[in-house]
Amino acid sequence: MGLLDGKYALIYGVANRRSIAWAIAQAMSREGAKLALTYQGERVEKMVRDCADQIPGTLMIQADVTDDAQINHVYDRLRDEWGRIDILVHSIAYAPEEELRGSFVDTTRAGFGTCLEVSAYSLVAVTKPATALMTEGGSIITLTYLASERVFPNYNVMGVAKAALEASVRYLASDLGPSNIRVNAISAGPISTLAARGIRGFTGFAKAYPERAPLRRATDPAEVGDTAVYLASGLSRGVTGEILFVDEGFHVLGM
Ligand code: NAP
Repeated sequence: MGLLDGKYALIYGVANRRSIAWAIAQAMSREGAKLALTYQGERVEKMVRDCADQIPGTLMIQADVTDDAQINHVYDRLRDEWGRIDILVHSIAYAPEEELRGSFVDTTRAGFGTCLEVSAYSLVAVTKPATALMTEGGSIITLTYLASERVFPNYNVMGVAKAALEASVRYLASDLGPSNIRVNAISAGPISTLAARGIRGFTGFAKAYPERAPLRRATDPAEVGDTAVYLASGLSRGVTGEILFVDEGFHVLGM
């Protein structure tokens, strides 16, 4: 018996085998969930297909989250294929490279808009049409980082986007709770992925975690996957609007 037997999980944000969304997909499949993975475009299609092929029956649907028509297509397809959704994972972030280096004060209007749209508003954009298919309640999970509340060098506008994302989690949790749809975020420690490597100096601050975090090790993507299973399953049925840290305890440190 898996914790997610009979559940349908839609996962946004697998780019390749290093993606946090892929660790979540593997953990959810292990627990019995049926999966659909979205991918942004042809650039990553082959890498996402390599992942999807490892889990027979996994659906793949293209969706750039800045385009409502593509988002709606995802739900039309899942209405036909599954008839409902139980779990939605949002594991997406983007900022132009030049915004993730240097000083925050140099953030451009265009860079701020792009980063907030893709990294924060997209949670709202993918959640609204999902709720119509969450006919038996649901669990929505997004990914955030401690830079929403503390200053990390070069994280800059992405820290502001994560603050907006976390606030969105609370507002969505309040709106959707009466429909038994829960909304939570996992705040993960540094994991070497495509998105993370776009932040200048990432390797430097990632090194601080195994040296200083209470658990004295780096965050393993599989730990994030297992926490996502908890948030998607009935074990967390009383939990919503929460930011749950999977960072080996780093966030409790003062110095
Ligand atoms: P990743 O593998 O690069 O995943 C980021 C995903 O966002 C990619 O699949 C990317 O697709 C997708 N994306 C960007 N713009 C998109 C758009 N317009 N439409 C659809 N998809 C789009 O990196 P990751 O580290 O796993 O990131 C996943 C989430 O975890 C992000 O929210 C990130 O901020 C968060 N997080 C990461 C860490 C870490 O240290 N890695 C720590 C805490 C939180 P393309 O590659 O096709 O652009």
